[in-house]
Amino acid sequence: MKSLQLFGAMDLRQVEMDTPVPGDDEVLLRTEYCGLCGSDRPRLLFGEVPFFPNTLGHEFSARVAAVGKNVKSVVPGDLVAVVPLIVCHHCKNCRTGHYGQCENKQFIGLRVENKGGFSEYNVLPECNVIKVPDGVSGWEAAMIEPISVALHAMFRSGMKPGSDIAVIGAGTIGKLIIQSARAMGAREIFVFDNVQSQLDDVAGNLADHCYNTSDEAFFDSYLKDTQGYGCPYVMEAVGIQPTVSLALKAASTNGNVVLVGYLDKPLAFSPAEVRLILENELNLLGVWQSYDLDFPGDAFRLGLYYLSRGVYDTKSMTDRIIKPDEIMAACGDWKIPGKVRGKIFVDFR
Ligand SMILES: [Zn+2]
Ligand SMILES: [Zn+2]
Repeated sequence: MKSLQLFGAMDLRQVEMDTPVPGDDEVLLRTEYCGLCGSDRPRLLFGEVPFFPNTLGHEFSARVAAVGKNVKSVVPGDLVAVVPLIVCHHCKNCRTGHYGQCENKQFIGLRVENKGGFSEYNVLPECNVIKVPDGVSGWEAAMIEPISVALHAMFRSGMKPGSDIAVIGAGTIGKLIIQSARAMGAREIFVFDNVQSQLDDVAGNLADHCYNTSDEAFFDSYLKDTQGYGCPYVMEAVGIQPTVSLALKAASTNGNVVLVGYLDKPLAFSPAEVRLILENELNLLGVWQSYDLDFPGDAFRLGLYYLSRGVYDTKSMTDRIIKPDEIMAACGDWKIPGKVRGKIFVDFR
């Protein structure tokens, strides 16, 4: 089989290797579509991966090519959404449904040799694939991983239907959170971003109020629009100091502040912010991936259902669909601000 592997920064090469054979409880998958994640950017552009050669691709759909003798949920020919985390099911975290914290977890598309969406074939446990409902395409099914993250974040928020919610960051995850919140019965949705085009994408149907954080008086407008109270649920989907600070300020008394954006720089709270957390009795909630009881969890199953019901505007969130030999050119476009608007998918069929 063919496998696209990363040998260094911007150095992707096609390698020939043996096609793997599924065990009794495993499935052999042929990759259909694979999304490029924001987290793949530093990996492709700067070679920031744990080892070389590295097989990328953790957001993908596939066609079942063969199944082991114990496999019941899928048959060859089925289109499936792939769950990229392989867990042990035995450690204490797995037994309590905290699969994202499995002590023996393996994340494919980065941390497992020769496994990932950039390979023509993969062998995975049966529980790592879910049959895609009718009407959902392979390209849309490749969005299930980020969709599941948005839904898991919504579950973590504990949002009650009919409540107002603020979303900070209108990138892909922010947009998926906004659309999920709408489907789950949010009342008014307040969205913050510093890129006007991102706000324009969601203004109207999805977001009731949009704030460009480069405008001087944006926060005063927000306070006015929320009668001075802020929102009981605030989703932080950026992961930098100023947006985390904004999330604290945007929450109403005893509000739930959900940290979804991945922070890789030091974060410091000012005394005033600590005071805000204490005095307003804020609840800070972390989000890590999207796994929950009954592996891989309801976020994946609900995500596929929502996809089949057209909840997500997959078209407008897609920048382009490319062939594998166009990946490096697409990476070049990432370096040009504003050039890539939305997700890039690779058609591996
Ligand atoms: Zn991702
Ligand atoms: Zn485990």
